[in-house]
Amino acid sequence: MSVLDTILEKRFFTPWRQGRSGDPASLWPDSSLELYVTAACNQNCEYCYLVRQKELYPREAMKPEIIKKNMKNFLDWCLKEGFSFHQVDLFSGEIWHSPFGWEILDILLSYIRRGLRIETVMIPTNASFVLSDRAIAEMANRIEDYGAAGCRLQLSGSIDGGLSDGITRRGNESRLTDEKNTDDFYDRFFSFWRRFGFVFHPMVSAENVKYWRENFQWWDERCREYGYDSFRDIMMLEVRNDNWTDESIEDYKSFLGFLIDKLLDERCSGDVKKLVNHLFLTDIFNPGSSGYINFGLAKADAFQGCTVSDMFTVRLGDLAIPPCHRTAYDELLYGRFRVEDGKITGIEEHNPQIASRILLQDSILCSPGCDCCPYNFFCLRGCYGSQREAGKDPFMPIESVCRLFRGKIDFLIDKYRELGVWEALEKVSPANARYEEIGEILEAVKHIREARA
Ligand code: SF4
Ligand code: SF4
Repeated sequence: MSVLDTILEKRFFTPWRQGRSGDPASLWPDSSLELYVTAACNQNCEYCYLVRQKELYPREAMKPEIIKKNMKNFLDWCLKEGFSFHQVDLFSGEIWHSPFGWEILDILLSYIRRGLRIETVMIPTNASFVLSDRAIAEMANRIEDYGAAGCRLQLSGSIDGGLSDGITRRGNESRLTDEKNTDDFYDRFFSFWRRFGFVFHPMVSAENVKYWRENFQWWDERCREYGYDSFRDIMMLEVRNDNWTDESIEDYKSFLGFLIDKLLDERCSGDVKKLVNHLFLTDIFNPGSSGYINFGLAKADAFQGCTVSDMFTVRLGDLAIPPCHRTAYDELLYGRFRVEDGKITGIEEHNPQIASRILLQDSILCSPGCDCCPYNFFCLRGCYGSQREAGKDPFMPIESVCRLFRGKIDFLIDKYRELGVWEALEKVSPANARYEEIGEILEAVKHIREARA
């Protein structure tokens, strides 16, 4: 057994063989699979790495027939190994309006029907398929078919919002350049999403941040219209590309201040105690929260906050195993599945050191700069792919992204001090279930304030 075999066996394959167990020490809930289908797409988003980095998916590996054949080989192997997944992501450029996308869904469904256990299949999509009545029907049928087979097929809406899509997500078609098309698109989008209860993950980037205050109002109005909660159902993740400037960071801080004031005013009737409860003492907006809250100050995980340490990625066009879709550069590939006579017979090892670093080691202590940074308790940290693109080293933080996070954290610390949030947290009773966690947060705030002084 190679070093890579040993790492992957312990981190992913054994938990997948064990399946859901209820054992609190089980790695299974944190072990997902990503099928990296293709880089072909119908849009040209400003910040998308697939548009800019052709090396991430070799063009010769993007032939639909090869992708489908490899997918079947891989799923045959998963069935043979008796794997059980709590989540499988289908990551690609946008293909869900096309027969190729529907075929991919049908192949996966056929394996679920043959006994491959998957609780949820997740697809991040720009939702452009809703412009076609045929594609809407094809997708809706499949969501129902998956449900009937015992698997939830879930879509996550990668649209930025009415005041931002035309800036950062320029379509290859004209949906966002013509007002009538645009209105029609959003009506169809929200109706489809509401029908199945899907949520949204727009991106806040250096390019679009100055429009986000008005953009959030746009989301808020649409959410009210369609029965969503804008604070609960929209996950606004920061794009960690190397282009944050002083001006865009100031715009971001102003947007965060706007969000906090709006939450305080509209959801807490101006009562800071309620804000404290929302942000620190209860599971904010749960159940069903979309996860990351960009104006929250939560303890960062020792593993990377994204999926790179929790997901096993397979690039279907050549069965390579990259750390994730944006780190699929040749030199970073963990390895590649070996296929003989149409069957997977093992894994060729390529870079087990990268696998060990990402899957087994503490990403704060092992990233130069993060290890001793006063902000490391809260900082989400950079994206390995973006860091590889900016500085040729996936583990070296990008200075402009550090400025973004330090600026954001400083701003939130000051804003919450002005509102009396820290003072209120100091009075939390030791009987509170979050007492220890709150103590750690207050200590980290103190540490940052001392480092700034
Ligand atoms: S600010 Fe930069 S150096 Fe500090 S923890 Fe964040 S990513 Fe690491
Ligand atoms: S390293 Fe970057 S692209 Fe890869 S999963 Fe994390 S955030 Fe996403």
